[in-house]
Amino acid sequence: MEGQYLAALDQGTTSSRAIIFTPKGRLLASAAFEFAQHYPFPGWVEHEPEDLVTSTVKALRETVARAGIKPSQIAAAGIANQRETTLLWDRETGKPVCRAIVWQCRRTAPIIQRLKDEGLSPLIQERTGLVPDAYFSASKLRWLLDETGLQRKAEEGRFCFGTVDSYLSFRLVKGHPHVTDATNASRTMLFNLKAQDWDDDLLRIFNIPRAVLPRVVDSASVIGSLDPDILGAPVPVAALAGDQHAALFGQACFTPGDVKNTYGTGCFMLMNTGDVPVSNDKGLLSTMAWRVGGKPVFALEGSVFVAGAAIQWLRDELGLIKNAAESEELAAKVPDTGGVCFVPAFTGLGAPHWNMYARGTLVGLTRGTNRYHLARAALESIAFQSDDLLRLMAQSLGLAPGALRVDGGASANGLLMQMQADISGVPVLRPRVQETTALGAALLAGVGVGMFADPAAAVSALQADETAFRPRFSPEERSKARRGWMHAVDTALHWAKDTDLTPEEAASP
Ligand code: ADP
Repeated sequence: MEGQYLAALDQGTTSSRAIIFTPKGRLLASAAFEFAQHYPFPGWVEHEPEDLVTSTVKALRETVARAGIKPSQIAAAGIANQRETTLLWDRETGKPVCRAIVWQCRRTAPIIQRLKDEGLSPLIQERTGLVPDAYFSASKLRWLLDETGLQRKAEEGRFCFGTVDSYLSFRLVKGHPHVTDATNASRTMLFNLKAQDWDDDLLRIFNIPRAVLPRVVDSASVIGSLDPDILGAPVPVAALAGDQHAALFGQACFTPGDVKNTYGTGCFMLMNTGDVPVSNDKGLLSTMAWRVGGKPVFALEGSVFVAGAAIQWLRDELGLIKNAAESEELAAKVPDTGGVCFVPAFTGLGAPHWNMYARGTLVGLTRGTNRYHLARAALESIAFQSDDLLRLMAQSLGLAPGALRVDGGASANGLLMQMQADISGVPVLRPRVQETTALGAALLAGVGVGMFADPAAAVSALQADETAFRPRFSPEERSKARRGWMHAVDTALHWAKDTDLTPEEAASP
């Protein structure tokens, strides 16, 4: 077989990247291009759909050139994408009706509030695994159909809705398939996790015609081949997955209880829960891990709102450090925080506390507190918040994780990773290939074209050179550290109780 490499297209919120991997998962070449963000009004975020297409194609061509391979040597390509971002386009011409509404955009918050007021939250959560929020695509699509007056034409099948995977497939794949994969579908708030199909009740609630929706396909399946104009070869497109789901796959979290945490501006933690969606009442999302061979695998998902952002705060607002990496140097100068505990609840607290009134809290200061202690407390806050999620997931699934797999910008901080291992009491495993999202998309594509029945082999080769941080705390040290953290969180929540913020003020970032 001439094709032996795998290509990944990772279409993110701020940039589009492409990476070529060997079948063993080694990174051969990569390229990334940023594109413009549009903020037409406060709280609104948009992308120009054409920018998503052109930056992706440019990245792919550049990567192939850098890899020095012939396009015909690419066995398959997989797409991973920013999730929930919503597009609507003309089925005949492929032309979008307006810019894409990006996941972060808050314009549809009133639509969601109305549904909550009507008491629909339990139904939505039961069907989709999601807590109703403007992030997800359903309210964005409702808004688009209302604003453009295209409801009737959408009912006639003349327009297509899709998330970014759908739009890229429509534009880049020969024959213009209108498809999405199950992971992306699970972020629309219209997809029934158990039935693995669009939910008729939710379609009625949002007044969304089925004719506008894409066909839901497996995360690893050939949806067609790249338009030959793109690379000059008909490379099969064999995987679609939302970025966090692709990262879970790229981190080889194949068995229930396997869990990964991505440390960026915020943290995204996903745990494989096997062949059943696991519900919880503490605000974790139940979502797809992936669907391969018609078999759905589910996951729990939680996020930390302020993680790396706490380090940016030390840098930009306090001027304690010049760059994020310096936080490690500073924190390493002291053996502990000297009793200081920092809860970076800048925008409230998420799971398991869910309090939008909570605010950042710094406790335990003494005359001897210095910037080293503050840097250390900031790093610890990332580990403690992640540990809160990990505990909640383990509790919900009834399975203690054997390890925590990590990636993302802040996972470069070895001290932070050691803190995480100590606080959580599990080994923290950091792969050498940090491009786990792209790796996941590439491996899924390999599965999609039948290059390997089981990607475990490819991934175990990679895991040979990961870095392991082993827990060093005794059980007593662990529970003492946790008591300190919970006490500080209580203080933040207590502070919130007496607040005079209105709900609107509390909810605005
Ligand atoms: P995102 O994808 O959210 O933009 P990245 O994965 O690029 O995030 O990571 C950037 C974030 O990680 C920033 O918030 C930054 O402050 C933090 N960060 C990066 N390197 C380090 C480090 N060595 N130590 C601590 N935090 C870091």
